[in-house]
Amino acid sequence: MKIGAPREVFEGEARVAMTPDSALQLQKLGYDCVIEAGAGSKAGFSDAAYKEAGVSVVKTAAALWKEADIVVKVRQPDATETKKMRAEQTLISFFNPAANEAGMKAATKAGTNVIAMEMVPRISRAQKMDALSSMANIAGYRAVIEAGNNFPRFFTGQVTAAGKVPPAKILVIGAGVAGLAAIGTATSLGAITYAFDVRPEVAEQIESMGAEFVFLEFEESSQDSAATGGYAAPSSPEFREKQLEKFREMAPEIDIVICTALIPNREAPELWTPDMVEMMKPGSVIVDLAAEKGGNCKLTKMDEKIVTDNGVTIVGYTDFPSRMATQASTLYGNNIRHMMTDLTPEKDGVLVHDMEDDVIRGATVTFDKEITYPPPPPKVA
Ligand code: NAD
Repeated sequence: MKIGAPREVFEGEARVAMTPDSALQLQKLGYDCVIEAGAGSKAGFSDAAYKEAGVSVVKTAAALWKEADIVVKVRQPDATETKKMRAEQTLISFFNPAANEAGMKAATKAGTNVIAMEMVPRISRAQKMDALSSMANIAGYRAVIEAGNNFPRFFTGQVTAAGKVPPAKILVIGAGVAGLAAIGTATSLGAITYAFDVRPEVAEQIESMGAEFVFLEFEESSQDSAATGGYAAPSSPEFREKQLEKFREMAPEIDIVICTALIPNREAPELWTPDMVEMMKPGSVIVDLAAEKGGNCKLTKMDEKIVTDNGVTIVGYTDFPSRMATQASTLYGNNIRHMMTDLTPEKDGVLVHDMEDDVIRGATVTFDKEITYPPPPPKVA
């Protein structure tokens, strides 16, 4: 069978779902690989590099979708792409099934089986295919780099002949995958880093990355109720008030805030309020990774960078992984390659779509002309 990666059509998207390296691995599984010309160019992978890795290059997206039995993509397909889907084809891509009824209907009509990368269950066995985590890791890292790029001082404290420099103070709100990556990056650059999460169980992880867990004096039972199934649930108004009170206390001293707090299937909670922004020193920076879901800071403008009247820069970009397209494509390509390994038990270039496999079942959103989203809860943890 043939696996193909088209050029991403979403404006500004620089990632690609197959790299020359991942193509080599896919060939070891018995597949032929094909890309659309230029598919990897924005991520630093030339057509020549693919050819050298044994990948054939076709000129158009139409030819790619026609030739490939398995299409691998980064962004959910747009209408021009769903039209190219065909029977007995498998698409592996981010697909946003919760808000993409039309895409799932188009796929069932075409007879395409869709595996949605954001639906890979977050269980140990599936970590190697967990593209949400690999991309969140990049976003967390890049958020700190972006903050540094807009911050007019050092992160690390220094004593130099020209004067003493205090270290920057960074607060990371939300310590999931992106938040922990941000903490690791901030501490490695020498900043004094604080982090807060509603899930008290992450305190240990925060501290192991070199940051200080911002502790709230609050009844244990209420903090516990804020956590469900590994993800956060909305906090009680009392808890939120306590949290905001703490942040207000910290705001005048904090130089950089990295916001990553999210609650599945909801708007992002507002946690860094306009009065806190007002209290920050000129030159301070907020990078709001929750921008796509409305932002943890109300003043954030999605996909923009603004500077407030008091000189605080607020970055609301939503394309951090694409801004590190080589790294992101490499890790995403690996996630896909690992999924293909599970889908190819005999390493014979034949995809076996086993709906009894928890991971494959969980990620499959259309199969055999039926919508199979949402999946049943996984049986194994
Ligand atoms: P996410 O992106 O959904 O949320 C980011 C963080 O924001 C979470 O840590 C959440 O607790 C926090 N948050 C929500 N509301 C908040 C508030 N009001 N104040 C402060 N913080 C708030 O999270 P994620 O990175 O996708 O990870 C979520 C969970 O999934 C974690 O428990 C993580 O360990 C788990 N996970 C498991 C696996 C695996 O086992 N394969 C892989 C990745 C993540």
